Amino acid sequence: LTSSPYYTEVIRQLRGVFGLHKFRRNQLEAIIEALSGRDVFVLMPTGGGKSLCYQLPAVCASGQTTGVTVVVSPLLALMKDQVHALQEKSVDVFLWNSEASWDEAMQRMRVGPKPSLMYITPEKLKESNVAQNVLTELYNKQQLARFVIDEAHCISTWGQDFRDAYRDLDQLRTRYPTVPIMALTATARRNTVADIIKRLGLRDCAFFTQSFNRPNLRYIVEPKGKNWEGSMMDFIASNHPNKSGVIYCLGRDKCEEVAKKLKDRGFSAEHFHAGMTPSDKDWALDEWRSGRVHIIVATIAFGMGIDKADVRFVIHYTLPKSLDGYYQETGRAGRDGEPADCILYFQFKDFMSIKNMIERPDRDNIQATPESITRQTAAARAVVDYCLNISDCRRIQLLHYFDEKLEEKSCGHGCDNCAHSVPLITRNVTTEARAVVELVRSFQTKKESVTLIQCRDILRGAKTVVVKSKQYDKLQCYGMGQDMPSELLEQMIRRLCLDDILQENPVMQSSGYHTDYVVLGPSAEEFLRSKKVTEIQWRPKAGK
Ligand code: ADP
Ligand code: ZN
Repeated sequence: LTSSPYYTEVIRQLRGVFGLHKFRRNQLEAIIEALSGRDVFVLMPTGGGKSLCYQLPAVCASGQTTGVTVVVSPLLALMKDQVHALQEKSVDVFLWNSEASWDEAMQRMRVGPKPSLMYITPEKLKESNVAQNVLTELYNKQQLARFVIDEAHCISTWGQDFRDAYRDLDQLRTRYPTVPIMALTATARRNTVADIIKRLGLRDCAFFTQSFNRPNLRYIVEPKGKNWEGSMMDFIASNHPNKSGVIYCLGRDKCEEVAKKLKDRGFSAEHFHAGMTPSDKDWALDEWRSGRVHIIVATIAFGMGIDKADVRFVIHYTLPKSLDGYYQETGRAGRDGEPADCILYFQFKDFMSIKNMIERPDRDNIQATPESITRQTAAARAVVDYCLNISDCRRIQLLHYFDEKLEEKSCGHGCDNCAHSVPLITRNVTTEARAVVELVRSFQTKKESVTLIQCRDILRGAKTVVVKSKQYDKLQCYGMGQDMPSELLEQMIRRLCLDDILQENPVMQSSGYHTDYVVLGPSAEEFLRSKKVTEIQWRPKAGK
């Protein structure tokens, strides 16, 4: 690398423009390949330093490619941050978004010296003929240095972040065949990567990747049991007193509520979500960044572009929407390389909340097409599967999701699954599972309703008031699962709901509250017909 004709210039710019002294992993390699005019694919975890890979070649005077580097990125806020940071380094950069007028754009791109970088939203590129014309003009004058597609996974319909305007980026290669393309993403799934390469038409590209393993992070899944919030606070207080942390919540109200609870318990905490005014957001962020506030309770709106080194814990108060998201969000912990905890609090109900959100589009989920609903539901389901897999090492499971294999069989860092000394029990529950489904079917035939908890109580042979008054103890399957722990029976029924064999159906009562009745799901009949064995795993609590 040091023998590359561009090396001296690259180092000069690294120090002079960016004020940095060393490259991080793969940065120099990617930059040199870019300067030599190749297509480049950079796969790097969030915070790894992707921006430098295209910003630095853009300001180099030497190299096979000169002219304007056109950067396509999905998030305007992030683009603005980058543009601002570059301007502070005296780099000539132009941001072409909807705020930039046609005239201004023309002026900047046609007359006089061209900027080193032009940032543009994919929407602008797609909609505007002017943008196309400007690019064509630059192309004809050989003044297009390179196209940079940041967050390139947005082009793939495989991923959960698919953006419609990204789809048209497949035309860049056909329209401007000689201009090299650099694609960057933190999404490591193999099918997504292959899809990006195909759609962008990358040729013989230099491919840079690295392990996604974060050895200093400890991954833990905690079931939401009785008083779990209290235990969460005890955990923070005893393991990370006065240390920085993030708690991710699902909704805006929840963020505020949890932040308040923490404050009431004497913690230093603030909330952060997209519904706040920019100045409130800045303030909260500043307080947390500086360490004056320890805990930030946030929606996933928080985190893009945040890099605070000493985050000691990331807690998921509710289920993350995907494992990609989970990896990114937990990735904000322990940037300094010191140990940090990532704790996910899990209950089945949270999956239902997410499913509702996915199906009922609102401000958080604008585009709910049948296709996107299927995709997002599958992504959320993968998280539930992760939570329910209580046998394999968490780290191994996560890396496996990113198609990466860890040599070790266990993380050695005490993820919840590796840390347990109690052996795991696998139980065949085929008979009980079929009995519940038959039970629900018989209720449905009789046009009677039953709740999940009642089903559980019938199976465990409980003598509750409801059981007696409704004479459920006369049913054939009454007491059939009495040798199974109650929570295991419940887990089994919830699992059936998760697999669409049963469904929970909320019905509004005259009291104004709603009750979730269980009904047969779309996969019920197939389940009853098939001879499939149903198994469930659990770890008996110590002392039981
Ligand atoms: P990504 O886009 O991969 O999430 P960024 O490009 O935003 O990451 O970089 C994350 C942080 O790392 C930024 O604050 C950036 O200034 C810093 N950084 C990047 N490369 C280097 C380097 N070679 N030396 C020191 N800091 C770096
Ligand atoms: Zn482990």
